[in-house]
Order: sequence, then structure tokens, then C-alpha cells
Amino acid sequence: MRPEILFPLFKPVTALPGVGPRLAKAIETIAGSRVVDLYWHLPSGLIDRRYAPKVAEARPGEIATMTVRVERHLKPGNPRLPYKVYAADETGTLALVFFHAHADYLRRALPEGEVRVVSGTVEHFGREVQMTHPDHIGTLDELERLQTVEPVYPLTAGLTLKVLAKATAAALDLAPDFPGEWIDPPLVRQRGWSAWREALAAAHRPDGPAALEPVAPARARLAYDELLANQLALALVRLNMRRLPGRAVVGDGRLRAKVEAALPFSLTASQVTTLEEIIADMEAPTRMLRLVQGDVGSGKTVVALMAMLAAVEAGGQAVLMAPTEILARQHAATIEPLAAAAGIRMGLLTGREKGKARAALLEGLADGGIDLAVGTHALFQEGVEFRDLALAVIDEQHRFGVHQRLTLAAKGRGVDVLVMTATPIPRTLMLTAYGDMDVSRLTEKPAGRQPIDTRVLPTERLEDVVAGVSRSLAGGAKVYWVCPLVEESEVLDVAAAEERHDFLRHALGERVGLVHGRMKGTDKDAAMQAFAEGPPSVLVATTVIEVGVDVPDATVMVIEHAERFGLAQLHQLRGRIGRGAKASTCLLLYASPLSETARARLAIMRETDDGFRIAEEDLKLRGAGELLGTRQSGLPEFRVADLAAHADLLAVARDDAKMILERDPELESARGQALRTLLYLFERDAAVRFLRSG
Ligand code: ADP
Ligand code: MG
Repeated sequence: MRPEILFPLFKPVTALPGVGPRLAKAIETIAGSRVVDLYWHLPSGLIDRRYAPKVAEARPGEIATMTVRVERHLKPGNPRLPYKVYAADETGTLALVFFHAHADYLRRALPEGEVRVVSGTVEHFGREVQMTHPDHIGTLDELERLQTVEPVYPLTAGLTLKVLAKATAAALDLAPDFPGEWIDPPLVRQRGWSAWREALAAAHRPDGPAALEPVAPARARLAYDELLANQLALALVRLNMRRLPGRAVVGDGRLRAKVEAALPFSLTASQVTTLEEIIADMEAPTRMLRLVQGDVGSGKTVVALMAMLAAVEAGGQAVLMAPTEILARQHAATIEPLAAAAGIRMGLLTGREKGKARAALLEGLADGGIDLAVGTHALFQEGVEFRDLALAVIDEQHRFGVHQRLTLAAKGRGVDVLVMTATPIPRTLMLTAYGDMDVSRLTEKPAGRQPIDTRVLPTERLEDVVAGVSRSLAGGAKVYWVCPLVEESEVLDVAAAEERHDFLRHALGERVGLVHGRMKGTDKDAAMQAFAEGPPSVLVATTVIEVGVDVPDATVMVIEHAERFGLAQLHQLRGRIGRGAKASTCLLLYASPLSETARARLAIMRETDDGFRIAEEDLKLRGAGELLGTRQSGLPEFRVADLAAHADLLAVARDDAKMILERDPELESARGQALRTLLYLFERDAAVRFLRSG
């Protein structure tokens, strides 16, 4: 239950004075629908009204706050001309200019003979000093209030700065003084942070450009709060998992030995180390939750298989879950002969297995007739029972949500969980998505891999590229041709896969296939299969090929509009080639003009093939939110924290969360209580439920 002190913050913004339904709608699109959302909608700029010159000294183009005596109103004879009010100080006359003026209002706001404070942008018009539509008009006692620095917020249609600033000020008035501090006091002192309420107020009242920087103390503190909530929530989920009864899964190695003997290669040192780490986890009486991070082509599948074999040796069952149908089938095809060599039974379960075949499969899983199952998320649907599931491997490629991953093991099956991810995630992002999860990294590629020759070319060179592809085909290569969208969109000028397919058929003949995301599953598989098993050909594809499909003799890849792809995605795509012993080439075609960021991205692609380095560079270039597509990646979104700027704080938050739970695992101390409030403040309610008295 959310603590009462937070109730006002989670009310809708319509609870604020002056905010009606229409305004609430506008606020919702830019900030959110609740009072607390306005807290996290921080200023993006400021207007400094402290410059208070005399009229004669006022610099044109600058915002000035001036104290003047109103002299006379000049109502134009022609309503299309502006209404003017002349005011002056001892140095000169200032013309206040109003278009479409309401004379009544102006007479009240600027009575002749009275002193008024006006604030706005100064202009020189001929010899006249002017201010058109002053932002503020006030009396002399209001000078102090007017001559300040105003925050500027990101806005949206139907929302003016004045209105949003007012709503935000009202929201800030509701901010409570929390009775306890949730951050470790020495840290607060060391960083020179203030208490939450003050920090929040200061973040919304920047006194200069420095206060807008993410590292400004007020903003850093709020970011730390958010990161701490994130890390504490993850640590709680994890602690809870560790408390669930696990089991020691100890195999005798007999199946692994058979499969190793059947493999046409020996394992890399990275694969061996990773396997040792996995096996140690499985043999321990607690539950495993381990992430294997390995670049495309680093050989994760065989590692997963070995772990699954260990589970089967111990008398249990194991599953391998893939994010797509194609991948599940490919894994099954890889594993089947090896499982046969080991003398165990493998089953495949996706949404497409139906009727009798499906029934037989389910029966095999339930009675133990099947030792090892490969499939899609269909494996975890209702009605799928296992005789004794010991290990679940999730080849996730960012398609499964964090929550799904972390709670999978809590579904009462007592399973060890191994997650495999192909996009190397920068360490900072790893922490936010997985917390202090055990990680193994496959840093080494299998021997014999040739580096990929990557070149960057403008789209204008298309003819040359097609000629080059034609030569490659003649030389026996298979070629991927990647287009960013399925259908032609003239507006966006995106090369369409279908049109490109036609074009290449004309240029190169019949051996050009097509696969895209809108095709039926069976058609997609058929196209992939024809490409994988048939003679050299070109496969025109949208990004569906991104996810793991293995065609070792594909050695050329053309990516059109490479400038539209993120680095991580380009790297994923490129990982589809260079998987065999032959040298590969990747051609990145771009449409001019290239943005600065796009240019930098393509340069990095040319420079390195190291997925970990690429991921770090991507984080630097784009910021975390955008990095992998937050929704798809299951990475959490942050409201205040900026992972590029606050990476150091994230590390501190991680250590702090760990220490907190070591000392006070139920969050019962005074600080523990404050931390519970923090979790609710950042809506990590689910994590609080893991506490005994949550
Ligand atoms: P990914 O990590 O992208 O899932 P895969 O598991 O699909 O990579 O492996 C890519 C290719 O490398 C496969 O063809 C696989 O058989 C091969 N492979 C895996 N391990 C080794 C190794 N140690 N030596 C040589 N080839 C390997
Ligand atoms: Mg794979």
C-alpha cells in the first residue's frame, strides 16, 4: 500500500488549482497525468530577468526588467496598427507595443502617471526603444518577484509556459517534507546535496545555465533517488529469488562428453569459462539467475546446449526459449542431431505445432518422454506441464520484458534460469535492467573467423554496388540486402524492400528472394530456408533477419539507409555475415546529407567489430532511452536520471542497494521505512511486495 504522505502526489493534475480537463490533456502529453509527473518534468532552459538597465542603456535583443513611469496611451485610429503606451525613466522613453490590444485591460494594467515594472525583450525601432508585448507587467512591490530567473519547460501544443509554470508551482507546493532521508547521510554530505524537497524546488528554480546540467547538485540528487529506487527494486526481486528453495542440479558429464565428441570444433576458452560458471550455479543449492552476454556469432547456442545436457544428466528436463518462430526452429535444427548423438529426446513447441503433434509433445513433456524442449513463449503457456523442469534458457535478444525474465523462476517450478543476450549491453545499462545479476561474457569469437570488411558509400553508388553483388554471386557468395521498411513510403524516401526486390530481380535475374516482417510465418521460413540451403542468391530483407538466423556461407551484406539504423542494430545485422571461414564484406549505403551523429555511427561501424565497444559508443551518441528502443529491450525508462551523465551515480546506487539489503533485508529500520517511501515515489510498488510486511 502506498504511504499516505504520497497520496497528494498521485492525484490527477486536475486536482491542481486552475487545471481543468483540457489543460490536463495537454500536460499529460508532455509530462504525465499526475501531480508527481510534473516534478519529473524539469526545466530545459531559463529566462534571466535580472538584467535591469535604464531605458537608454537597454541592449536590443535582450530581456530586460525596467522600472518606468507610464506617460500616455496612444490608441491607433486604424485597428490594424498597434496600440502604444509610452513610459519613461530619467534616461529616456520606452514604447510598449501591443497588437490586437484590449484597451480596457491596458488602461488598468498601465494607468497614466503610475510607476510600473515591465519585463520583456528590448528592441530598437528607428530611434524608438520598444518592448512588444511585455512578458510581465507589475507594480513596484512586485519588482523582486519579476526580476528573477524563470524556468523554461518543454511545451506542447495547447500549453503555454505561463500556464505550465503555474501548474508546476502549485504541484511543488504539495511536495511533502518526508520525515526521513532515504539516502545514506554521509553521501548526502559528501556530494553537498540538500533534502528531497529542497532539491526538487531547486531543480525547478535554476539560477543559471549551470543549474540545468544533469550534474547540478539538485538534479543529481533527484537522479540518484531514481537510480536508488531502481537498484533497490532489482535487488529485492533478486533477494526474494534467492530465498525461494532451489536445488542442486548435479550432472555426471556423460551426455556433455558425447556431444563434445560429436561437435566439429572445440569450445573456445570463453565458452569453457562461461560453462564452468553456469555449472557451478546449477550445482549450488540456490537458484541460478545468470546472464550470458555474447556478441553475435560468439557461440551461445552450444553453451546453452551443454547446460541443458547437465540438467538432463541430473534427471531433469530443460527448455530453450527463443523470441521468434524462425529462431526456435533454427535452434531445434542445430540441437536435434547433437541430442540424437547423446541419445536423448528433443521436442519442438511453437504456436505452429497443432493437433496430434502438439498433444504428443505435451504428453512427452508431462511424462518425461522428452528431455529437452526448444520453442517460443508457447513453452510457458498454460497447459504446458513438465515432469521435472530443472533449467530454462531464454535466448532473449531483448524481446522479453525484465519482469517476465526475473519472475520466471518465481513461478514455482524451482528452475534455474539462464538468459542469453546477443546485443552487448553497456555495463551501465546492464545494471539498470538486471541489477547485480550474475553475468558471463563470451568475449572471444570462435577461431577461424575472418574480420568483416565494412565500407560506407553514398546511395548514388547503387549501380556499382549492384555490379559488385553480381560479381559476388558469380563467385559463389550469398548476399543479404537489407531495407529499412516493408512498403514504399515516398514521404520518408525509404527504400522499400518490395520495390528493391523487383529492381534486383531485373538486374540480377531469378536468384533474388524476399523476406519481411509482414509475411506469413511459413512463407518467411520458406524464404529463409531457400536462402540458407539453396545455391548462391540474394535475400532482400527487412530487419527480420536481425535475430540470430545462421547462414554461414552468407558473406556479403548491403544495408540501405544505414543512417536510419542505430549502432546496436547495425551491429546485429552485420553479425549475420562473417560467420564462416570466408572473408565477408558489408556495404553501408547512406542517403545524404548525413547528420553529425549518423556520420559518427557509420565511422564506428567501419572502425570496429567489437560489440561491447559499439554498445558503449552507442550509449554515448544517443543516450540510454533511445539505445535499444526502450519498450522492445525491456530496459527501464528513467524520468530524471540520464545514464550517460549519471553513470557514476548508478554504480554508487548499486553498491548502496546491496549494502542496505545486507543490513536491513526487510527495510524495517528508520532508513528502511524512508526507502519504502522512495520505492513508492518511483512506482516500484511491485518490489515492495517482496517484503514480508509489504
Ligand atoms: P550466437 O552466439 O550468435 O547465438 P551461435 O551459437 O549461433 O552464435 O554460433 C555461431 C556459429 O558458430 C555456429 O555455426 C556454431 O556452430 C559456431 N560455433 C560455436 N562455437 C564454436 C567454436 N568453439 N568453434 C567454432 N565454431 C563455433
Ligand atoms: Mg544465437
